[in-house]
Amino acid sequence: MQGSGKGRPDVCGIVAYIGSKPALPILMEGLKRLEYRGYDSAGLALINGGLRVVRSVGRVSVLEEKVRKEKDLHGTLGIAHTRWATHGVPSDSNAHPHRDDLRPRGHGIAIIHNGIIENYASLRTWLEEQGHTFTSDTDTEVLCMLISELYDKASGMTLERAVQAALREVTGAYAIAVICEEEPDVLVCARKGSPLMIGVGQGEYIVASDGNAIVAHTTQAFALEDYQVARLSRDGFRTTTLDDVHVTPRIQDLEIELQEIELGEHEHFMLKEIFEQPNALRNTLRGRTDSREGRVVLGGIAEYARDLVKARRFILLGQGTALHAAMIGDYLLEDLAKIPAEVEYSSEFRYRNPIIEDGSVVIAVSQSGETADTLAALSEASDRGALTLGIVNVVGSSIARGTDAGVYLRVGPEIGVASTKAFLGQVTALTLLALFIGRRRFLSADQVSQYLAELEATPDRIEKILAQSDAIRDVTARYIDRENWLFLGRGHNYPVALEGALKLKEISYIHAEGMPAAEMKHGPIALINDGMPCVFVATRNSQYDKIVTNIQQVRSRGGRVIAVATEGDKAIRQHADEVFYVPDMPEPMQPLVTAVPLQLLAYHAAVLRGHDVDKPRNLAKSVTVE
Ligand code: GLU
Repeated sequence: MQGSGKGRPDVCGIVAYIGSKPALPILMEGLKRLEYRGYDSAGLALINGGLRVVRSVGRVSVLEEKVRKEKDLHGTLGIAHTRWATHGVPSDSNAHPHRDDLRPRGHGIAIIHNGIIENYASLRTWLEEQGHTFTSDTDTEVLCMLISELYDKASGMTLERAVQAALREVTGAYAIAVICEEEPDVLVCARKGSPLMIGVGQGEYIVASDGNAIVAHTTQAFALEDYQVARLSRDGFRTTTLDDVHVTPRIQDLEIELQEIELGEHEHFMLKEIFEQPNALRNTLRGRTDSREGRVVLGGIAEYARDLVKARRFILLGQGTALHAAMIGDYLLEDLAKIPAEVEYSSEFRYRNPIIEDGSVVIAVSQSGETADTLAALSEASDRGALTLGIVNVVGSSIARGTDAGVYLRVGPEIGVASTKAFLGQVTALTLLALFIGRRRFLSADQVSQYLAELEATPDRIEKILAQSDAIRDVTARYIDRENWLFLGRGHNYPVALEGALKLKEISYIHAEGMPAAEMKHGPIALINDGMPCVFVATRNSQYDKIVTNIQQVRSRGGRVIAVATEGDKAIRQHADEVFYVPDMPEPMQPLVTAVPLQLLAYHAAVLRGHDVDKPRNLAKSVTVE
């Protein structure tokens, strides 16, 4: 393409440095920038004459304490990691970096790794037969020993070569950084399936699993591609394939401002990002709308305009919050572009032998652009001949690179694990896409003009909702001891109900279910008991009367109703215990405002319950394993 979900999280943090500055502070600062991803242990290794490794289960602050007690941790070459355990419990001995055997057998090799080595068990058995002794339960240590087994500098099997050779034996996913005492001027990195960026400075390189850990040092960077290895030294670098064929990377500007990834005056990244939404959407829209002419300008898909207009079917894919945005996109494409659309979990799509006919367009929705399930589904779709589009935030990410065309969200880096501004960005991008196609089919310039004027007014409307944050907190506090919540909506607001429930679950650990409001009476109504909070998205639209009926069904069974309603709707007060008002919007665009009070509700619930909003348990920011 030119131009957050949760599951089994893995992608944790990698930072590595080679240059002339002391590596330790750079590594520690980098680890802190990656903390938001969720992890269970941390560690680092430095080479200064010999190899030194410090690691610890728990937060980066625990590692920092440990580091403070160590003497002489110097060196200008080092690697650091935050681990999200997949093989072996979180413990000091399973934390990365892993190193090879002690001398004389070993070479002082240390590795950090994101991902999973799938064939680690058979490799481990073989390596044990060769006499290697393991001290952890991880798949990563197996890769380290394999590199060490193959390493033989005297006969030309350098660290770079040994890494290439080891990776030829490995199946699975990895982003790795490796150092070796016998080659104190070399840092070797590689990737397959897990992201890895290399920041290029003056005589120094900083490697990280995400750009946030790089921008403080340099904005020039390139992304390693799958099956590529980079050898970095203070004199320069080279990138090769696993078979040692040279490749030339494209160095690009990172386009991340430091202030965007800093907390500033806000208490949490999630709150900061909720409040950034008006500006984020202004950026999503900038230069793309011409409300006077009724024109949508989307450079990233212009080349494919004809294929999109003639498309027979859209299939939207995502996971987690991105799936909810995709569901809204499904309504938008059918409503505004009048092309049949369907939506599916990427993870389900790829394993069910999907039918892709001529004229099928597959749209992948992902904040990070690295979601493993969505990437795999996309490659399935392209193999079957679909045109693929990406609705992605991270520029240059795997999905952005792997799709034919797409629309970037431009909402800036999202650090909070619970996605907020990326969700609204995805919905906005999908609205633009639907209008772009709709204008070329059945929508008149006048109709598009009106919709665009509404979109342009949305950021200001969101500001008005944000101003109610304290009131939303007070309402949330009244129900904070309730363990079960329902979120209900209809039509375009049905995915918003799902998203509201997901937000509450993921950061406050309160059980919540979202569903179409009409579905409630087919079973879930049995759950409703005295005082159960039921959140209804009950804005003025074609289904308003129906949703009021659903509200009554809940109330008559003792449920408590929290309604998201349209400003000026006084009548709703007779039906609801609490009301959050949002500005009026045309029906297809209502999710852009109705989602916002639900984000605030989830945020306040988590804070009221004393949870770490930005580091929810068990979750990671982007999920790069299936
Ligand atoms: N599979 C490795 C482990 O369990 C790496 C996990 C990660 O990505 O942090 O240690």
